[in-house]
Amino acid sequence: MTKSSGERTTTTDADTEDLEAIIRSAAPTLLDEAFRAMLAERERARTAPPEPEPVLPRPDPGPGIFGYGGEVRWHCRHWCGWYHAERPDLDVIGPVVIPADGGPDDVSAAITRQAKGRHQARHDRVLAAVTEHYEQEHQEAESASHSGR
Ligand SMILES: [Zn+2]
Repeated sequence: MTKSSGERTTTTDADTEDLEAIIRSAAPTLLDEAFRAMLAERERARTAPPEPEPVLPRPDPGPGIFGYGGEVRWHCRHWCGWYHAERPDLDVIGPVVIPADGGPDDVSAAITRQAKGRHQARHDRVLAAVTEHYEQEHQEAESASHSGR
């Protein structure tokens, strides 16, 4: 006759004691570290200079439901009346590249990648236009805002 049941893997008391010792010794250290990191982060946030105003202004889709007729504007942050305009609805949608043996996840990833690429391209265009405008028209104000006023 063979014993087929009743045998289990048991944890000996010695194993449990070792484990508890490890947990006891590690827990305070981990908590300490987390607490110290939190305090350090709070101190850093308190003493850090205020973040400079981002160069890229927020996009303005325009008033009401018609906005600027599909145009999105990025106004000069000095409100001189200048703005950079884009027509996101007229963006040329490039090819979506999917591997030949791709499944639904690959299709989704490819579409996401393509959208991110378009978003990045627009971001770069707007940033370039805004930066150029600031350099040409607001050099003095810009250099003042970067040297802490
Ligand atoms: Zn301006």
